Amino acid sequence: MVLQRLFRAVIMGPPGSGKGTVSGRIAKTFGLEHISSGDILRANINAKTELGLLMKASIDQGQLVPDHVISRLILRDLKAIPQSSWLLDGFPRTVTQAEALDDAYSVDTVINLNVPFHTIKERLTSRWTHLPSGRVYNVDFNPPKEPGRDDVTGEPLVQRDDDTPETVTRRLKAYETQTEPVLEYYRSKGILETFSGTETNKIWPHVEAFLHKKLSVVNKGVA
Ligand code: AMP
Repeated sequence: MVLQRLFRAVIMGPPGSGKGTVSGRIAKTFGLEHISSGDILRANINAKTELGLLMKASIDQGQLVPDHVISRLILRDLKAIPQSSWLLDGFPRTVTQAEALDDAYSVDTVINLNVPFHTIKERLTSRWTHLPSGRVYNVDFNPPKEPGRDDVTGEPLVQRDDDTPETVTRRLKAYETQTEPVLEYYRSKGILETFSGTETNKIWPHVEAFLHKKLSVVNKGVA
């Protein structure tokens, strides 16, 4: 689909809700730039930048990094692509971050993946990640073609330091207390669209149909 005006979207959902996978599909199907705050932070850690080294401990422990740090990082990246339609994944995660985003851009739609916490706990502890790209696999229901290797590059997959059971519990708690208020923030603006389920492949067709409809309206200039 070719967009006639810029489209700005946010995807939300607890860690392990399939956000990364759905974001990749949205980016590919609708030509949006996919910006993942977690991938950006992990790239900084991998490259051993000053910021990455400073933030590694909080991330490994499943705590959120400070609002001003992540907001500056993401807004700087968005500023570098002024003519692109984008999809933000993992940001905003607090109401303060949502307000910082609002001050700079008007968000068209917020896609919320609503997946039960017990499904997520099972999923995250069997998740393997290709760190350079952020591609994720699950040994149970989405295994790589060759065990332990990324399908695209053949590079090794790793289990994230923050995907251990205790850290997963802490990340879900952080989601509940700090990120759920962001859903309310967007609901009150009338731009929140919630998709519920336990399987990404069953949720995806609904997200795709919604965006097709939404973007055809954008293209007609009605929205
Ligand atoms: P994710 O890959 O989105 O689950 O992010 C991994 C970790 O990066 C999180 O558990 C946080 O420690 C940190 N992080 C990512 N995005 C944000 C954000 N918007 N605000 C604060 N911390 C974040």
